[in-house]
Amino acid sequence: MKCPGCTSDMATNMVHSIEIDRCPSCGGIVLDKGENELIDSLGLAHVIEGGVTAAHEHRTTTARCYECERDMHALKGAGDVEYDWCDGCERLFFDRGELTAFDAFVDG
Ligand SMILES: [Zn+2]
Ligand SMILES: [Zn+2]
Repeated sequence: MKCPGCTSDMATNMVHSIEIDRCPSCGGIVLDKGENELIDSLGLAHVIEGGVTAAHEHRTTTARCYECERDMHALKGAGDVEYDWCDGCERLFFDRGELTAFDAFVDG
């Protein structure tokens, strides 16, 4: 899979027995639809459900889903977490540093 942010090939990592796609180049993270276990573990459900359309503050380029060949929607969720969402495959993309819950999860 290509990174929605920088088009590098993403690497699959196993974290706490959950498979995630992470970009070795920019550190972005993709969560596929159905990775509810990970979303639950990270406590992300409330973040994602509260997402509203908003321009990202630290990135000027639009993230793109290369699986669907369409631009992703820039959203801002609870706690001002910025992420991108593909309305084709419902994939989520988080920039490096956006997912502090994830960083804590990995390090823990
Ligand atoms: Zn990347
Ligand atoms: Zn897609």
